[in-house]
Amino acid sequence: IESLTVNLGARSYPIQFGVNAAAAVRAEVDALITAGRKVVVVTDRNLANAQRDTLETMFGGQPMLVLEPGEETKSLTELGRVLDFLAEHRIDRGGALFAAGGGVIGDLAGFAAASYLRGIAFYQVPTTLLSMVDSSVGGKTGINLKAGKNLVGAFHQPKGVFIGTGLLTTLPPREFAAGMAEVIKTGLLGDAALFAQLEAKTLTVESAELGAVVRRCCALKAGVVEADEHETAKEGGRALLNLGHTFGHAIEQVTGYGHYLHGEAVAIGLAAAARLSQKLGYIGAVEVARIEAVLTAHALPVKLREALPLAPLMTAMARDKKVRAGALRFVVLKSLGVAATQGDIDPKLAEESFREVG
Ligand code: NAD
Ligand code: ZN
Repeated sequence: IESLTVNLGARSYPIQFGVNAAAAVRAEVDALITAGRKVVVVTDRNLANAQRDTLETMFGGQPMLVLEPGEETKSLTELGRVLDFLAEHRIDRGGALFAAGGGVIGDLAGFAAASYLRGIAFYQVPTTLLSMVDSSVGGKTGINLKAGKNLVGAFHQPKGVFIGTGLLTTLPPREFAAGMAEVIKTGLLGDAALFAQLEAKTLTVESAELGAVVRRCCALKAGVVEADEHETAKEGGRALLNLGHTFGHAIEQVTGYGHYLHGEAVAIGLAAAARLSQKLGYIGAVEVARIEAVLTAHALPVKLREALPLAPLMTAMARDKKVRAGALRFVVLKSLGVAATQGDIDPKLAEESFREVG
């Protein structure tokens, strides 16, 4: 097991990597219990079915709450269930909550850990590619409201992240591809060598390089989070992780959540962001084609499945939180591997970019 540290002063924490993380998780659970601290686990039904033995090795004997899979679980109702579960098991300030699952379980359980007794220890055991390379690192937690996604939340860094890429063998292929959108995004925004590697050889769940790629994505995200933990930087910083997401969120919102997986909407968003960057004169048609080829090779869409009216997409983008004072603000590519935030973007250029991926 290799590890990497997210350096945040007193809140620093390790990310541990291996094909199998079960022994490392078990050692942490045992150490907590030996120290007289209680441990509880939140997971979802798909994982509980697909990885029964691994969960038993990690957490056997500890109370486990199994929630329904799906984005709808990131709700006030389910938050209440997690909080009641903590209270029922008399978790005190010394207790620890483990989230074993994808981004849904991590975001929900993390927010419960942030708010229960004003904050208890929290560990991430991500089980989807997306959660391994993105949501389990960085401390953003939260839930959705009827009015929109991720409207309630808190920054609450985990005490540790345990990544076992062997868990991905049971992940549905469409979910693996969706996670690849965030991997490709990571290469594009800050790791040209990673992008080149994906271009030279398509990554699959069987690839020997999978662990190293996941680790590279975590290292890049850790560095960005260390420099701008609470996303307060005026330019660049944590906002760079939103490359492709202003377009992607608009697609998700207009089509209704669930029509496209988040990663699929981000893939189309990356294609649109590439075209916008081309219109701004930063990259050429060759680079746009290379980006689309890498997305396509990893089973991701680069065009909308059906045409969408442009007006609601533009309205959704104007409402996006990356927009300030009426001018459109985007993350653009200066070159393959270098991103920047840019305000005052002519909405006509964004609209044309959207039309080209329609
Ligand atoms: P998810 O948690 O819904 O998991 C996807 C599906 O895979 C689910 O059906 C789940 O039950 C199943 N699954 C999980 N692990 C499995 C395994 N090993 N084998 C078989 N099935 C398995 O989705 P996700 O893509 O992991 O996360 C999406 C969520 O993450 C969204 O709510 C998004 O807002 C959030 N997110 C948060 C951050 C952050 O910084 N906090 C960043 C990105 C995304
Ligand atoms: Zn994303």
